[in-house]
Amino acid sequence: MRKKKKILVVEDEAHLAKGLKFNLEREGYDIVVVDNGQRALDALAKDNFDLVILDLMLPKLGGLEVARQIRAGDIRFPILMLSAKSTDKDREIGLEAGADDYLTKPFHLPELLLRVKGILRRWEWYRQPVLDHEKFHFDSMWIDFSTGQARGQSGEFYLTTKEAQVMKLLVGKKGAVVSREELLEKVWGYDPDTETRTVDNFVARLRKYFEKKPQKPEFIVTVREKGYQFIAKDSA
Ligand code: CA
Repeated sequence: MRKKKKILVVEDEAHLAKGLKFNLEREGYDIVVVDNGQRALDALAKDNFDLVILDLMLPKLGGLEVARQIRAGDIRFPILMLSAKSTDKDREIGLEAGADDYLTKPFHLPELLLRVKGILRRWEWYRQPVLDHEKFHFDSMWIDFSTGQARGQSGEFYLTTKEAQVMKLLVGKKGAVVSREELLEKVWGYDPDTETRTVDNFVARLRKYFEKKPQKPEFIVTVREKGYQFIAKDSA
């Protein structure tokens, strides 16, 4: 039997936390609940989790700060952010801080369960080593897929989780064409509000990091009508 997936629920509204625990356990997950940001970081330091469900508004340490601290060290597990805030800007800030997905309160339970399932499935492949080593070198640059840290054309920085996932998919299949549809399915999970243009926007960002001339890419190239292709010799 496969090991139960372990989920950390960070939520200070007691009745909501209790409801999440009950329903997620019924779906077969192992659940730990904490009610503030500091306890979340403590729990993460002690134990391995497959997913963190993180409320945005928390006492002591807010959800955004928790996400940032998690992402500064390790990106090998996903974060689903919950928030009463619902503007596109809030969503964007949450995703920039390192959340993989964002759900607005009040939400429907089936929707949450679906998101949880989708995120866990998408992360399954990210954690599988597609390369011989986690740190991939090319040209004078590198990407460490275990932490999300990278060296691009203008120095060292951290990729967001989605950026790291896109790069891992392209690098893992280097030399082959990866279609926008495959990128959407693996990284975004066919979210109905995600369009192929989202993929193009991410690729444009990645080119700014890694290409000498983003308008004339030599590593992340467009293959007309087909998708994208990563071209580079592993220089490690
Ligand atoms: Ca709250």
